[in-house]
Amino acid sequence: MQEFTGLNGARLQLSGPSGAAGDSWSAHVSVEDGSLTVTDSSTQATVLQCQLAPDTAWRAGPTTILVSSSSGGGSSSSSAPDAQASVQSSTVVLQCSSAQQAQQLWQALQPKQQPQQNQAAAERAAEGTPDIEETDNQVPAGGAASAAAAAAAGGNIFDAKTEKGSAELYFHYYGMLMHQQNMLQDMTRTGTYHAAITENRADFEGKTVMDVGAGSGILSLFSAQAGAAKVYAVEASGMAKYAQILASSNAVGKAIQVCHSKVEELSLPPGTQVDVLVSEPMGTLLVNERMLETYLYARDKFLKPGGKMFPQLGRIHAAAFSDALLHSELLGKAAFWQTPSFFGLDMSRLHQPAVEGYFTQVVVDAFDPSVLVSDCATHVLDFATVSEEELYDINIPLNLTVAHPCTLHGVACWFDVLFNGSSSQRWLSTAPGLPTTHWFQLRCCLQQPLLVLTPNTQLRGSMRLVAHARQSYDVHVELHAPPVAPGMAAQKLHARQSYDVHVALHAPPVAHGMAPQKACGKFDLKEPYYCY
Ligand code: SAH
Repeated sequence: MQEFTGLNGARLQLSGPSGAAGDSWSAHVSVEDGSLTVTDSSTQATVLQCQLAPDTAWRAGPTTILVSSSSGGGSSSSSAPDAQASVQSSTVVLQCSSAQQAQQLWQALQPKQQPQQNQAAAERAAEGTPDIEETDNQVPAGGAASAAAAAAAGGNIFDAKTEKGSAELYFHYYGMLMHQQNMLQDMTRTGTYHAAITENRADFEGKTVMDVGAGSGILSLFSAQAGAAKVYAVEASGMAKYAQILASSNAVGKAIQVCHSKVEELSLPPGTQVDVLVSEPMGTLLVNERMLETYLYARDKFLKPGGKMFPQLGRIHAAAFSDALLHSELLGKAAFWQTPSFFGLDMSRLHQPAVEGYFTQVVVDAFDPSVLVSDCATHVLDFATVSEEELYDINIPLNLTVAHPCTLHGVACWFDVLFNGSSSQRWLSTAPGLPTTHWFQLRCCLQQPLLVLTPNTQLRGSMRLVAHARQSYDVHVELHAPPVAPGMAAQKLHARQSYDVHVALHAPPVAHGMAPQKACGKFDLKEPYYCY
């Protein structure tokens, strides 16, 4: 049971029917005294209950549910008759981040007394025409298209969960040859894909393949080189036309059918299923760009049961790091705002916000592995089994051991993916110390350093990744270290004095019974600080 807190103080309870697939679930909707109840038809369990007020919104984690009333000229009354009217005129708007949840809720909220309208929506869905016009009218100003309406009208969950401007910029970027070139020339990346595909000929020979986000079509061409009989190269950006040119101008390309479409909008002949998915959906920290969700969407919709995925598994690794220079560099950037006389003007009131701004940026560069001071935590995503919902909110516990006394400045991360072919297994790794890839590594530098005074110190903490609609994540980092004695170097270890680390090493050992040290930071994975 998930509890949603309403922006207007209302409450909404939601629980998915256990084990039911989105497509097969049906529910009964009733309205009584202004309260909306959704009951699972088969189990009779109440899965959704809310006070029905026009323009109500509920939030829980990344999911938002909006109920808006467009009936009667947008009355703001929440009395029972209005509430009923808003349901009967089918103006309940849902916006969910999960395709399955959206589908379930949409089905649940289809008023059963309006079969004709449902029929019309189903017909539009069958024609592949999104039900956008009607949806747009229903969504309050500033809202994205309804995921539920979109899902009901053909499954374009991508548009429903993505800010339009973000998607436009994103596909504009990938539509440019120079950016595809940048990826192609990452030889570690492209070479590993080539080896993983061509070394596993048995997985491709005579098989049907889908290239999820084909870009220039390079992985489609590799699949054709490995003997694929048919490759669907699905690409949403304008790069699709260049992929077509490459396919047409290479002999192996005749197996390739370029589909200029979002994967989430792709319509293939009914029942089309492929043997293999190939894709390069990894962003910084593996999950940036949220393209893994598209990969999983393709798995659920187009991959035969037991079909192969290249790659099949991804891992995020995180360890504590110590890098006083990096910490000082970020402070140095903000130091401009300390200027007491900039053209005669005092800028210093903005110094603290500037410091905070720099410490919300993830630092992207290739660092030397010697900055790592702990073992590493690993979070595994098995692409064959992980659900899309599990990518919305990823929590990575950080129970780390720091071997030697030092000053901690934050958490360093990298990722790898596994190609688990039937003949050969290959890892593509972005770990520090290995050949640098175009992903580099990533660090979350904390404004407040922590002091470790004794060997083999245990750190506790977490790194939580929360998806947002701009195709990226908020990264919440929290680290706890044992306390240090009062008045000693830790207190003096103000951000601007990070070189005090040598003093700190001579501080007395941990004083028991005192508060542990804690440092937190919130970072936007979408706003990196490139440091190379
Ligand atoms: N496969 C290519 C390109 C990888 S970059 C290579 O390995 O070189 C990812 C590509 O996926 C981009 O070209 C981007 O436009 C495309 N893409 C991202 N999301 C998509 C979606 N939902 N549907 C179709 N294409 C998508």
